[in-house]
Amino acid sequence: MTRLLLPLAGVAIFATSCSHRLNSYEDLLHGDPATLAQRAPADELAITYLGVNGYLLQSGDTAILVDPFFSRVSMRDVVFKAEAGSRPEDLAYGITEGAIPHQVDAFLITHSHFDHALDVPALQKQLGGVVIASETGVAICEALGTPRGRLRRSRPGDVHQVGGATIRVLAAHHDLVLGKVPFQGCYEKPPATPLRLDQWLLGTPLAYVIEIGGKRVYLESGGVAGHPPAAKDVDLAIVGAAPGDRDGRYEEAVRAMNPRFVLPSHQDWFFNPVRSGFHFSPLANFPEIRAIHTVNELPGRLLLMDYFHAWRVP
Ligand SMILES: [Zn+2]
Repeated sequence: MTRLLLPLAGVAIFATSCSHRLNSYEDLLHGDPATLAQRAPADELAITYLGVNGYLLQSGDTAILVDPFFSRVSMRDVVFKAEAGSRPEDLAYGITEGAIPHQVDAFLITHSHFDHALDVPALQKQLGGVVIASETGVAICEALGTPRGRLRRSRPGDVHQVGGATIRVLAAHHDLVLGKVPFQGCYEKPPATPLRLDQWLLGTPLAYVIEIGGKRVYLESGGVAGHPPAAKDVDLAIVGAAPGDRDGRYEEAVRAMNPRFVLPSHQDWFFNPVRSGFHFSPLANFPEIRAIHTVNELPGRLLLMDYFHAWRVP
């Protein structure tokens, strides 16, 4: 992993001089600060961006959290395989700024790398709800104290009914990061804790189609070309775009789904503290994504969301 991260660190240092923020794209930004937004009634859907690949979906009394990650770690911690866990002050910040209800119905984990799963056990303890995840994600949460009765070990094809939401589990793939998938592997049983950052193993990547508030939302954290999502005609497609449109994968995914709206996800530099706000990752290439939408006439309206902003999906 060190071999993978050292070049990445070089890219990061280079990128600080030209890194850009969301305010270059005012015309694409959707949503209002979550602390000022009104809750959506049961026949509507509000979606709040929580950073990295984290989202709150709220409709009436139903609240679902996807990949919430507030207790950020430095790249140095990853390179040196530090042990890391949730920090109460970061969780409190995320809950307040995201206006996350004090009780939620479910957590969905797309895969169990630290930037998707690290805060789930501590948040579940605080906010309740069930955890829908792969066998590996479930094993990690159990190791970190999530009660077994709250864990839903999930595979592609499974369907969960949670509050007013129907959640379909789809197969997914992990992005290639500088040519390889990091921290691969699975747990069949709860691993010994504490976990080093490289022990948050990938497990089986999953994507979800969530029917909630009269809308259909597709949500993933990434993928590879040649494996388009098995979802069609969604209202909102949240498409992992951490490596830009690698090998045409982003375009393929969007075309397959024919969405009304498209939100590229996981484009931010998640080694920053959550309080420092959205900065594009040096590996993301949003100008290219935007150009593909325009030049290749992709279906769906492209949008962006800032940290802790909530948007009522029309
Ligand atoms: Zn990952």
